[in-house]
Amino acid sequence: AFSALAQPGLQRLRAYDPGLDLVALRQSHPGLVELGSNENCYGPSAAARAAAVAAIDTAFVYPDPLGGALRRALAVHHGVGPNQLMLGNGSHELLMMLGQAFAGPGLDVVASQFGFAVYALAAQAAGATLVQAPALPGGRPMARGHDLAALAAAVGPRTRLVYLANPNNPTGTWFGAGEFGDFMAELPPTVLVVVDEAYLEYVTDSSIGTALDLLPRFPNLVVTRTFSKAHGLAGLRLGYLVAAPGLVAVLERLRESFNVNGPALAAGEAALADTAHVAYVRQANADERQALADALRARELGVSPSQTNFLLVDFGRDAAPVEQGLVARGVVPRPMGGYGLPTCLRITVGTRDQNRRFLQALDEVLA
Ligand code: PMP
Repeated sequence: AFSALAQPGLQRLRAYDPGLDLVALRQSHPGLVELGSNENCYGPSAAARAAAVAAIDTAFVYPDPLGGALRRALAVHHGVGPNQLMLGNGSHELLMMLGQAFAGPGLDVVASQFGFAVYALAAQAAGATLVQAPALPGGRPMARGHDLAALAAAVGPRTRLVYLANPNNPTGTWFGAGEFGDFMAELPPTVLVVVDEAYLEYVTDSSIGTALDLLPRFPNLVVTRTFSKAHGLAGLRLGYLVAAPGLVAVLERLRESFNVNGPALAAGEAALADTAHVAYVRQANADERQALADALRARELGVSPSQTNFLLVDFGRDAAPVEQGLVARGVVPRPMGGYGLPTCLRITVGTRDQNRRFLQALDEVLA
């Protein structure tokens, strides 16, 4: 009954369903291998952990509403002004705020088929219409990345926002810097383009540049990043966006003053400074990603090329029984039915030991 009282955009939405009860699973399966959420299996840097722990001593005061030291450190890190940065309670919060600020009833939001699920949510929650551009054609669904030409074609006079991820979750696909520059040049400056670079630190292919390099050319560009992935701070909820100062100023009208907590700010600053840890995580992930992809391909499964910390695996048949078999053996993958990829599972690249245990469970399930 209350749904009818909600604003129109919300009436058609359903609340996030975590699917599995991970808390219960952790109890019933000690040593549960969690490969469902693209978390960092190596954890945060020791310095970030220590900073978060120390910050608990000041948990009785409100955190710095301006994101102080972390915001300034990020500005230096990316060579932008602090007024081009906004911190968020995870990048998820910022993606939603962009929708609230710039979309709404009567306006369109463009995203790609197989694009990250939050983009559709942000559009719908704002009461806007989601226009989905088809993904690139391809032999197998998982190799189907964002089609920049199709995205540009889907942009119309009512379009205010375009969301795209590089690399994308869940497909693991990516686009190159040159191609993206051409795409931006085609769009009117009234269309805000949000490039979600949650996995950018994992990229090892040098042809995939960051969209941050294009910010001076395109004031309608917004880049989001997160500390949840390569920095291993998913539980502290910390993300940020970089955009033109005027765009950030509009978002500031909407931001909850204390949206990022003290331990997150402290840990983020330490994590950013610990470049050795990120370099270690990136290399270990790249090595294990390759080894795991090889092992899965040797089992004649379809594996998407990936520049992230996960692989999209196509079983060529309904993957639900595979998922159930893995969970029963203490391994948690991510089902892809919600993305229209029911024959696929998304597997986070784990540590060598986690990957070994995953493959062992998989062999039992597929036997
Ligand atoms: N973007 C993409 C593409 C993601 O995969 C995720 C996390 N799954 C997020 C954004 C959100 O991450 P967070 O809110 O933890 O920063």
